[in-house]
Amino acid sequence: MCSSQSALSIPQSAPKAVRLCQGCDLAIEPHKLPKGQSAFCPRCNLQLYKGGTPSLGGNLALAITCLLLFVPSHFFPFITIRLFGVMIPATLPSGTFTLISEGFVWLGLLILFCSSIAPLLVSLGVILIHLSQRFRWLKTFRFTVQSIQYLKHWMMLDVFLVSLGVSCFKLQDYADIYMNVGLIGIVALQIFSLILIARFSARRYWDLWQPAKTTKFKSYEVHCGHCHLSQPEGEKCVRCEAKLSRRKKNSIQKTWAYLIASSVCIIPANVIPISVLITNGQRLEDTIFSGVASLVVSDMLGIAIIIFVASIVVPVAKILGLMYLLLAIQFKRRVYHKQRMIIYYVVKWVGKWSVMDLFVISIMMTLLDRGQILDFTPGYGAVFFGIVVVLTMLAADSFDPRLIWDNLNDKEPEKANTAASAQSRHSAQAVQSHSSSD
Ligand SMILES: [Zn+2]
Ligand SMILES: [Zn+2]
Repeated sequence: MCSSQSALSIPQSAPKAVRLCQGCDLAIEPHKLPKGQSAFCPRCNLQLYKGGTPSLGGNLALAITCLLLFVPSHFFPFITIRLFGVMIPATLPSGTFTLISEGFVWLGLLILFCSSIAPLLVSLGVILIHLSQRFRWLKTFRFTVQSIQYLKHWMMLDVFLVSLGVSCFKLQDYADIYMNVGLIGIVALQIFSLILIARFSARRYWDLWQPAKTTKFKSYEVHCGHCHLSQPEGEKCVRCEAKLSRRKKNSIQKTWAYLIASSVCIIPANVIPISVLITNGQRLEDTIFSGVASLVVSDMLGIAIIIFVASIVVPVAKILGLMYLLLAIQFKRRVYHKQRMIIYYVVKWVGKWSVMDLFVISIMMTLLDRGQILDFTPGYGAVFFGIVVVLTMLAADSFDPRLIWDNLNDKEPEKANTAASAQSRHSAQAVQSHSSSD
């Protein structure tokens, strides 16, 4: 199944294998690095590759370990509270099921996806990659490698653990809290899946499929988004046979669409209550902001700051940050490229933490759904907030950071506003190499 086009006739004077930086399209000549060091792009600072060659078999072992850890982390209670003399245990999926049974299906599914399904699919995916590499199933291999690249941003066990801490602080007024064995399972699963994700490299898997060294070209114009092979312009990638394009398709339009939709939804998300607590027949409705305010009043300033940053600052900063990047591209600003790249990294990294309030709601629901005496349900504000979280994550995913760098060497601004035409100026002649330690 391996692509025959890779056997291109390369003249003797062919340059060394070059790759284009994924962040800014700078042509770079990779060097061998000692273990523990990483190479960064001299222009945009993206980590290009790491030294040493961690075994891919190790990834397989980690994936199997993660799968085994799904049992203790999902089927054993991670916390038990004593409320009015009754012991109430909670498992990882139980908050989700309570949400779904109360009619908040999409919210429940979102939380289930981020806390359980995404990590599960990543572990299964790694196993499938090894199988499809062994049996040379090109399509399965390409699909799975690409899926893991997307899914890893949606793995949020770390956010879940912080949310659990926040919930415990909120609950301590009502009940005694006991940690259970499931918690060890969740922490172990989080640690192993973090290591798995840190070691996972799409490029290394593709090099296993067909080494990049076997494909040297006269020029390097396009970076394949699937297998990360830099190559001359063409219809299909010579290694993975995926469609080639210089930039993510309609990146600017898609990002704008997600941003505008999320800016609209962020209003009801902040105005409508996101949680309703009923104690002794008294109904207490909280919006995101009033929730933060009541935490301040009850002397939980630390938690109040965490929730305020995660639920209010992060989504707003994300929307404004991406809007600024888009406007700077569209108005062809020719300064501060590096600073804009930093904004992009920050937006991409902080994104998932905004889901924290929803995790807190889900944990509180599992534990405080006790009928008349004490009852906790989400409000419709939480649904809008969930939509904002998803839309801003999709916006960051559809943004192509290379667009930031497209006008770096422009002397005279072009009229064309499509990414493709602005790109054609790039050549592989300006080969730079750079490496630095971690
Ligand atoms: Zn770069
Ligand atoms: Zn490819």
